[in-house]
Amino acid sequence: MLQLAEIFYSLQGEGTWTGTPAVFVRLAGCNLSCSFCDTDYALAFLAPVDEVVVRVRELGGECPMVILTGGEPLAQRETRALIEALRADGRRVHIESNGTLPADLPDDVWLTVSPKERLSPEMARRANEAKLIVDGRVPEEWIGAFPQSTRVFLQPEGNKPSNVALAVDAAKRDPVRLRLSLQTHKFIGVR
Ligand code: SF4
Repeated sequence: MLQLAEIFYSLQGEGTWTGTPAVFVRLAGCNLSCSFCDTDYALAFLAPVDEVVVRVRELGGECPMVILTGGEPLAQRETRALIEALRADGRRVHIESNGTLPADLPDDVWLTVSPKERLSPEMARRANEAKLIVDGRVPEEWIGAFPQSTRVFLQPEGNKPSNVALAVDAAKRDPVRLRLSLQTHKFIGVR
């Protein structure tokens, strides 16, 4: 049985896939307890894998993109079964992870890693993109933890102008590796 916080249909607001419609499946719980965490990943309901697939279909129809987020979506044992069931239903699965829990993911799963207090080297190598939060400083220490070929997005906390300025300056200094990512869903008032 999966532990879930919420399932909803919206748009990806961040990173490479910004603007793309997606069904979000927020799994409950996290293996970290970051002091700055502002995500409500509390357990809201339990559901078996097949019910989650049905709910994704009801909400998203033919929408190909499903984002497993959290909390930490890879912290639950049944997440792998959910990934397989969604792929079998024709979905492209994206995972937003803190990158601490090594996982052997199918090649067609898109992995976004947003490191916090530690990072598995295996997950750093597997990441399709990295998302680093800029909050008063650019976390330079994480940039080098990812392979040179990995897209690294700098995301200003709260879209605050001071954080945006830091991210823009850093991206201009390292234009090959770094890009700015704004939380566009907040500008347009969607989740
Ligand atoms: S890893 Fe993410 S979801 Fe988990 S506690 Fe830290 S900020 Fe919150």
